[in-house]
Order: sequence, then structure tokens, then C-alpha cells
Amino acid sequence: MRFNYWQDFLSLVFPETCCICKRSLFPFENQLCKVCISQLPITNYHLIPLDNDLKNKVLGLAPVGMVMSYLRFSKKGLSQKLLHQIKYKNKPSLAKILGQMYGSFLMDNGFDQSWDEVVPVPLYHKKLKIRGYNQSEQFALGLAKALKISSCNHLIRKIPTPTQTNKSRMERWENVEDVFEACSPAEIKGKMLLLVDDVLTTGATMAACANTLQEHHPKSIDFIALAAGN
Ligand SMILES: [Zn+2]
Repeated sequence: MRFNYWQDFLSLVFPETCCICKRSLFPFENQLCKVCISQLPITNYHLIPLDNDLKNKVLGLAPVGMVMSYLRFSKKGLSQKLLHQIKYKNKPSLAKILGQMYGSFLMDNGFDQSWDEVVPVPLYHKKLKIRGYNQSEQFALGLAKALKISSCNHLIRKIPTPTQTNKSRMERWENVEDVFEACSPAEIKGKMLLLVDDVLTTGATMAACANTLQEHHPKSIDFIALAAGN
């Protein structure tokens, strides 16, 4: 009980604020206020998961089935602010909450039997050490919790991805082709996997991860990003 009093006192002195608009949060709110949640640029990819512009990015490059993104990425938009908080402002829990929100939405929209495991796109170990967490894994953990399945780190990133600015789509894909490795190949076979990343831009990372997983014969590979754009 004493702990609760102390928490109440702390929240009076240092009220938690919304990650986006900085307004003080109500006790029933977590990281984001209701107004900002209502303004999230949510997509409708769940309605056309097998045939959309995101799927087109990896057509012919990787064996990916459904491709979806929770948010539409736009520069200087709400999704960019969220990603900035998640990646650079030490907010892993924000990624997890967004994962839970999308996972619950997918559960309610017919995806409750779609996957056995969630597989986050890994960070290079040095980058992970610097940041302290993998934001894609945090998003994956939220998704997995809502979907009532596990998040499994089946992949490792062997070498850091070189800077990808000013490269064509194909060059970028070649760049990441040999970057990933499966660390638990026996556990991949026959599984319906949901590969998860924080951002989808060219599709190169998704393709590289999917091709690495495919070598170990999963039943299916689908993909979800927290945000996707051009
Ligand atoms: Zn807000």
C-alpha cells in the first residue's frame, strides 16, 4: 500500500506526460494520450494484406505472404515523432504499447490463428548495446502479447548494415542479402512466422530476413512494420 501512496505522490510532483503532445496523462493512459491515439495515421492494410504497395516492394525478391503496417509513415508527421521517441528517447515501452494496440486490433479482425511466432528483425549487437534495446523486438513483444503467441529471436545480424542512402532498390537488397543468419534453425521448420520491423522503406531488410528464414523451411512468412512509407 505504501508503494501506491509513493507512486501517487510522484505522479503529483512529476506527472507522466504524453510522448507526443506532452500533456499530462490521466492514470488510465499510458505513454500516449487519447487525443494523440485518435490521430494516429492508421492504415487499412489488414483488408488487403496479400496485394498492396508494401507487398509489391518484395514481389519476386522474397517468399513473403501478407505484408502490413500499423502506421503510415510521413516525414514530420505523427509516426515520425513516435519513431523518434522510440529509437532515440529511450522509450522501448512505447513500441511495446503500439504493438499491443495493433495486435489487439488484428485479433479482432480475423488474424487470431494466423501465426505461431513473432520474429523481430535483429539489431547488430554493437548497436543493441548502445541503445540498450531493439525497438523492433519491443514492438514484436507487444504484438505477441496481444496475439497470445511468443516472440522468438530466430535471427541475428552478422554485420552492421552499411549506410543505405542514395542507393537503388536492387543495390540495397544486395547490401543486406548476407547480413542475417538464423540462430535456431531447427525451431523454424513448419512454423507460421510473423516477421516484424519498426520501419519498412525499401523492403530490402524484410526480403533479406525472409530469405534467411526460408532456408529453414517455415510453413509461411508474413511481415508487419510499425510504420511504412516511401
Ligand atoms: Zn498526446
